[in-house]
Amino acid sequence: MDRRKFMTKGMLTSAGMMLGVGSFANQEAADAVQRSDDHDPFAAKNRAGYDIMKELKKYKKIDAHCHVYLFDGGPESNIAMADRLQIDKMVVSRPIYEETAGRPDEFIAFNNLVVKAMKAYPDRFIGQFTCNPIFQQESLEEIKRCVDLGMCGLKVYTQKKISDPLFYPIIEKMIDLKMIIHMHAQCQLGVGGYRMKYDTGIRPQTSIPEDFIAAAKRYPEAMFQYAHIGGGGDWEYACKSFVGYPNIYVDSSGSNNPEHMVDFAVQQLGVTRVLYGTDNCYYQSVGKLLASNLPVADLKKVFFDNYNAILKKSGRHVN
Ligand SMILES: [Zn+2]
Repeated sequence: MDRRKFMTKGMLTSAGMMLGVGSFANQEAADAVQRSDDHDPFAAKNRAGYDIMKELKKYKKIDAHCHVYLFDGGPESNIAMADRLQIDKMVVSRPIYEETAGRPDEFIAFNNLVVKAMKAYPDRFIGQFTCNPIFQQESLEEIKRCVDLGMCGLKVYTQKKISDPLFYPIIEKMIDLKMIIHMHAQCQLGVGGYRMKYDTGIRPQTSIPEDFIAAAKRYPEAMFQYAHIGGGGDWEYACKSFVGYPNIYVDSSGSNNPEHMVDFAVQQLGVTRVLYGTDNCYYQSVGKLLASNLPVADLKKVFFDNYNAILKKSGRHVN
C-alpha cells in the first residue's frame, strides 16, 4: 500500500472516530482523502462525505472480547465507549492477567467483579467467568457458581495451555454447557515487529495455534475462541492453521490494524468463524471492520450474528 492510501485508511480507522465527528474533522483531512487514487477500491469510503458514525449505526454489535476492571478502570468507562461506538453488548471478563499463583480466592474475586459489572449494566454486559486449571476441582465448582449467576462462557489466560490434560474436565464441562472457551492466544511469530524464533517462552504456558488445534481435534464438539488476531504476532499463520477446524473461532480484537486482516480471516475460515471484538481497543476494532471489503451482509454477521449464534446454543442469545 502506498503512503497516501495508508494515510487515508489510517484516518478511517482512527481519526474520524477519535474526534467523534460525523465526517472528517478538518479541511486538510478531507482534502487528503479527496486526493486518493480513483482506482482505489476503497474510493467510496475515502470520500470526504463518508460518515463513519452513520455507517456504524447500520450494525448491531456484540463485542466478543472485552475486559472489565482491567484496562479501563470501572465498567462506566467500558459503557462510555460502548455508547460512543454504538456497541450493544460486551462480553466481559477479568482473567488472571498478573503473574500470580492464580489461586481460587483470586479467580473467585475476579469473577465477582464481573458479576458486579453485570449487575450495574444488566442490558449491556454478558459476563464470562475465569478459572485456573491448576486448581481443577475449585475451577469446576466455580464454573457452576458463575453459570448460576448468569454468566456465559469461559475466559482463560496463560496459567496452562489449552491442550494441557488439566483442561480436559473443564473443556468437557463447557461442552455440557454449550458455551465457548475463550483462550488468550499468541502466535509468537512476528511479535514486536520482527520475526522471532517460534514460541520463545514469553509466558511459556501461552497457547499457540498448535495448542488450539490439539484441543479442537480432541474435542470437536467444543467451541474455542482464539483471542485477538490483531493482538500482535502472525495472524495469517494463525488463520491458515485453523482452516480444517470448524470449532475454532477467531476474534478480530487487538490494537493492530494490518490492512486486509479481517478479509483474510474471512477468506480462510469462512465468515461465520470470525467474531468482532475489541479487547478494549475500541476505535481500531470498529475501524478495521468498516475498512474491510466485506459486504454489508457479512459485516452484520461478524459484528453480531456469529456471536449471537454461539450464545443461542446455551439459550442465552440476544433477541
Ligand atoms: Zn483480552
